Amino acid sequence: MTTPTPLQPARWSHPGVTLQRAHVQAMRAHVAAQAPLEACGLVAVHRGLSQRVYPIPNALASPVRYRLEPHAYLRALQDMDAHGWQVGLIYHSHPRGRPYPSAIDLAEATYPDAVYYIWAPVGQVWVARGYLLRAGRVQPVPVRWV
Ligand SMILES: [Zn+2]
Repeated sequence: MTTPTPLQPARWSHPGVTLQRAHVQAMRAHVAAQAPLEACGLVAVHRGLSQRVYPIPNALASPVRYRLEPHAYLRALQDMDAHGWQVGLIYHSHPRGRPYPSAIDLAEATYPDAVYYIWAPVGQVWVARGYLLRAGRVQPVPVRWV
């Protein structure tokens, strides 16, 4: 039995991310269309504001796991680089779960400064929450919509 990991908000400061509403709608449409499989993708951010959504195929085509398909992943990174944008969000869905990182999400997290944005259905509505995943720990991050 493991002890729940305490949140340590004082240690990690993050300004949060602001998403343009059309980008939120694009992500929601993507995760809803892929259910019951997990969906995944990236969101480019510049100066705290979302710039473009990159839906990326789930190479595992699984209801409980995801892996960004490498070629689409690379093309997205190249496009962001060409525009001077950052990988601001990495999103994926938990079609049968909660909008909270799984143990596997924590173990496989590779972007300490990006927001992991996790979508899950609550009733009939897909909702999402943002987190930093660093060194096996989870910290919620504010994600605003405009
Ligand atoms: Zn997950």
